[in-house]
Amino acid sequence: MDQDQIRDLAQAVKQARHFVVLTGAGASTESGLPDFRSKTGLWRGVDPVSLISMSALRRRPVEFYQFYRMRFSHLWGAKPNPVHHVLASLQKEGLLKRVITQNVDGLHQAAGSEGVIELHGSLRECLCLDCGRSFPARLIDVDVQSAADIPRCPECGGMLKPGVVLFEEPLPADAIEAAIDEATQSDLFLVVGSSLEVGPANQLPVLAVQSGAQLGVLNLTPTFVDHRARWVIREKAGQVLTALAAELGIPARVENRSTGDLGEATPG
Ligand code: NAD
Ligand code: ZN
Repeated sequence: MDQDQIRDLAQAVKQARHFVVLTGAGASTESGLPDFRSKTGLWRGVDPVSLISMSALRRRPVEFYQFYRMRFSHLWGAKPNPVHHVLASLQKEGLLKRVITQNVDGLHQAAGSEGVIELHGSLRECLCLDCGRSFPARLIDVDVQSAADIPRCPECGGMLKPGVVLFEEPLPADAIEAAIDEATQSDLFLVVGSSLEVGPANQLPVLAVQSGAQLGVLNLTPTFVDHRARWVIREKAGQVLTALAAELGIPARVENRSTGDLGEATPG
């Protein structure tokens, strides 16, 4: 690892007035949750991106629910990894203002991050397309083999969808507004584990730079904003952030938390 870059980044973190982090699926791969765009992110040879849309839910519901069932099977046992832990610690030490995430796994909160902005909703709940009520995700974590097995809303019989933002759906307005506000105010903005291929989240680092922030990108593969970044580190984000915590002399995790396991008992 390039220790000079870590030292320089640590210096910037110490000096920053408003440090903001944007995370993506790559922040959770070290917890065993596959991302969508790495080669290992594919599912039964199917590109998940083709399945995470409203039209896929309506046209290919069996495959859609089976794909989400696979995601749940990873989710229930998943624990925060050093990425989540170090970010929570940075915030506790007063060095990091906010985490904005495209992730839907709840692992930042499990590690102790406060006020996390979830741009794409949460996999820990599901919603009725007809009455809009929300329920624990366990209602759709069922074996769907045919149209007859498709889970239904207990209140109105409507179709249930995961509590995540699908393609062809707008982002929650309050979350995107808060994220834009954070990006605009930031003077240091770090992208962690995101291909930055999904909009409008991928515009946040651009907005931050336009607002005068210094940009860093911790991602295994190149992104379209790398040329605007002062730090580009293509190594596992957990290792990079652990090295950053050591350089800053802060704990690598927030202690005295419960297990950090959101398990099945506490979806939502
Ligand atoms: P993505 O799959 O498009 O990109 C992930 C990026 O992370 C890749 O560029 C990959 O090279 C990088 N990466 C993987 N492991 C890494 C590591 N250990 N260290 C550093 N980089 C690493 O994900 P995205 O940009 O977040 O966009 C995809 C969408 O996928 C989002 O909308 C998100 O909601 C959804 N998603 C979420 C989860 C989750 O909540 N854990 C998992 C899969 C997909
Ligand atoms: Zn309903």
